[in-house]
Amino acid sequence: MSVQSSSPAARRLLVLAGTTEATDLTRAALAAGHHVTASFAGRTSQPSSPATDIRIGGFGGADGLTAYLRDNPFDAVVLATHPFAARMPYNAAAAAEATGTPLVRILRPQWVPEPGDRWTMVPDLAAAAWALHESHARRVLLTTGRQELAPFARLDRVHFVVRSIEEPDVGAFADADVILDRGPFDAEAEAELLRSRRIDTIVTKNSGGTATAAKLEAAYNENVRVIMVERPDSPAVTTVATATAAMKWLATLP
Ligand code: NAP
Repeated sequence: MSVQSSSPAARRLLVLAGTTEATDLTRAALAAGHHVTASFAGRTSQPSSPATDIRIGGFGGADGLTAYLRDNPFDAVVLATHPFAARMPYNAAAAAEATGTPLVRILRPQWVPEPGDRWTMVPDLAAAAWALHESHARRVLLTTGRQELAPFARLDRVHFVVRSIEEPDVGAFADADVILDRGPFDAEAEAELLRSRRIDTIVTKNSGGTATAAKLEAAYNENVRVIMVERPDSPAVTTVATATAAMKWLATLP
């Protein structure tokens, strides 16, 4: 008589990483006995991950990722890049289809305004800069990330407080202070920041999640305007909101 284990078979997973959800998924998958290769674009200087293997750098577009998946067969690909990573979702969708590799995307829910929020939705960063100009913003907390500053540098009548995780280059700005910090932030500290810097407008991408949402609660409480940059388009692929849901999806694979 043979005894069959009820635990799911060990899988080889490629996690397209760069988010908290990617790290959460990696931890959960390792704990379940899976083998995880985590892939990073190389944007941050020192990506850290508990994954079995780490690889860094682009694949060379959809064709490059397809070739990589042919050379390195995986049981599934977990697309866990940032909601504003615009290209990798399309590359992953194309490569998964070309190689027949199951693909799931983890995409945290967007933030949505509540009554009383003073949000202006804009499609991209250039439109956010234009919205600042149109609304005569004077003192702006800019949280869009250090690599997304160029459209704002030409607003020479605005005082910017640029908050980012790694040192940004604000050399092109007429008037900018820098705050180096990473979430999670809490609403009272965010409100104090808005008051002490006399911020009238926050610019943020609609990243969603809890780590950086406190600025929105603080903006509501302090009656500060929010310019909200909407997410880029994404391909139609199986999508879940959390690492836990992605683990459930993995368990359904044949
Ligand atoms: P993107 O537009 O989707 O990607 C640009 C290129 O970077 C891709 O075509 C790919 O190069 C490479 N790439 C992206 N993610 C990769 C990964 N996980 N592993 C290997 N190569 C990857 O994304 P992006 O906006 O430039 O962001 C790059 C990375 O930073 C992503 O991993 C993302 O999760 C992270 N990130 C982005 C933001 C944001 O606001 N955009 C915020 C926080 C973190 P090839 O075509 O050569 O394969």
